Amino acid sequence: MPDQPPVIEVRDLHKAYDSLEVLKGVSLSAARGETLALIGSSGSGKSTLLRCLNLLEDSQQGEILFKGEPVRWRGTGLDRHPADPGQVIRIRTNLSMVFQQFNLWAHMTILQNVMEAPLTVLRRDRAEVEAAARRYLDKVGIGDKADAWPAQLSGGQQQRAAIARALAMEPEALLFDEPTSALDPELEQEVVRVIKDLAAEGRTMLIVTHDMKLAADVASQVIFLHQGLIEEEGPPEALFGAPKSERLQGFLSSTR
Ligand code: ADP
Ligand code: MG
Repeated sequence: MPDQPPVIEVRDLHKAYDSLEVLKGVSLSAARGETLALIGSSGSGKSTLLRCLNLLEDSQQGEILFKGEPVRWRGTGLDRHPADPGQVIRIRTNLSMVFQQFNLWAHMTILQNVMEAPLTVLRRDRAEVEAAARRYLDKVGIGDKADAWPAQLSGGQQQRAAIARALAMEPEALLFDEPTSALDPELEQEVVRVIKDLAAEGRTMLIVTHDMKLAADVASQVIFLHQGLIEEEGPPEALFGAPKSERLQGFLSSTR
């Protein structure tokens, strides 16, 4: 479609925790249907960037745009905060996060986990929410676990439940923060499979990952973050096949 603004856009984003500068001017954009992979060493600012994007963290400088709509701020610097709580909720519900540690609610069944936010945040009709939740659980291959408790599931099943929960919000984009890092290698693959299906469906996604094969398989653009700055970015063939920066070369050889 012509002239559609990116689903997510960040321009020159700066973020500090007190005196620690973590993001030093990061710009990126994800068009509708595009998957971006974010790679980089531990501590380079990947999780912080995701949390700034969906406004779980404040940032001090730069712009964040959701479908062309800039986040409105009040104040400046360390006193800068989003000005409009309604806008924050709208953006956050449209950028669903999937975390490394799944973060399922232990006191709710898998089905209840998937239904909770559509019921309480979106205030949808219970019967419709339940039908949709069952569809999403089927989609990630755990339809038979609807009535189980999180603790009864393997890590891979829990992470697939967390993905179903994110999908149930029918978000514009999905943000993944190291979705396979907590899993044993044999369980990683079942989550990778689901993420690949979502990419093939044309979902808009931003995936922080240590799995270079996953990044190469699903991303149209790979972004290498180093100490809070984008050191190199490009299509996976270029980034993995012919990395230009010595830092990226070093990083890639350390991950093999
Ligand atoms: P990554 O996800 O790439 O490993 P993070 O975004 O988690 O990196 O962290 C980037 C830097 O910010 C690290 O130096 C980390 O210690 C610091 N940091 C992250 N979260 C906080 C926080 N809540 N308070 C203070 N420092 C933080
Ligand atoms: Mg992280």
